Amino acid sequence: MAEFKEVQNQVKKQDKFFRKSGDSDDSVEKLKKKISKPKQQNSISTSQKIKEMFKKQQFKELVNWAEKDTSITLHEYDEMKVNSQVLKLGQYALIKNAKNPSEDYVGKIQRIVTIKENKSTKLICLCEVNWFYRKSEIIKFKPQAKQWISNNEVFSTNCTDYILASTIQLPCRIVTLEEYETSSQVDKGVFFTRLEWLPTKKKFDGLSKLQHHCTCKQPQNPDQIYIQCDKCQKWYHITCVGLKKGEYEQKEYICGCCR
Ligand SMILES: [Zn+2]
Ligand SMILES: [Zn+2]
Repeated sequence: MAEFKEVQNQVKKQDKFFRKSGDSDDSVEKLKKKISKPKQQNSISTSQKIKEMFKKQQFKELVNWAEKDTSITLHEYDEMKVNSQVLKLGQYALIKNAKNPSEDYVGKIQRIVTIKENKSTKLICLCEVNWFYRKSEIIKFKPQAKQWISNNEVFSTNCTDYILASTIQLPCRIVTLEEYETSSQVDKGVFFTRLEWLPTKKKFDGLSKLQHHCTCKQPQNPDQIYIQCDKCQKWYHITCVGLKKGEYEQKEYICGCCR
């Protein structure tokens, strides 16, 4: 919009200039030409600007702009189809991770929009997602948390971004740890969440409220094997109490504290 205003000002200045310098038919012709030119440049710059923002992946800025500019049409949707599956607002999805193709990003779909410059036929489909961080993203800042974070655990955040709808892979589910543990079969698209991650502070919210287990005093990790003491009912990692697979099955176990 700033660009457009500038062009308008230029036209006004030229207008004044021509009126002062003379009022023959010739200069009126010139004036018309001068006025029509900036308008053309402006319409080119709209599509050019969209192109540049698209290239730089400035999707949030693009949506904000499209909401204000009448030369761009913005449509909103309640759902979309991804690989023949319906994905609705408020649902979770796996999103393509260009940096690491073996681990998709996880996010909640908050908004689905299409953007189109009125004269153009090119449609840009965008989704606003609220990110859930995965283990690999957290342990960059908290390497000691590697022990207790599950591979299927995600952390809620307050981070949102607009992404290309085409990078959405599949719908997925996010449940509580209790639901995750009791579900009979855990397939690839099921994650659990129990904590929020504060990206600006680079720390967990509510970590101290979690129950810590074993002699290593770590929060529960459903990926690991635990054994329960038959006396105190506390849970221990089999590796932390020096048991190997096959040594604990169908046998009573009494922990070090209770012995
Ligand atoms: Zn342990
Ligand atoms: Zn015990």
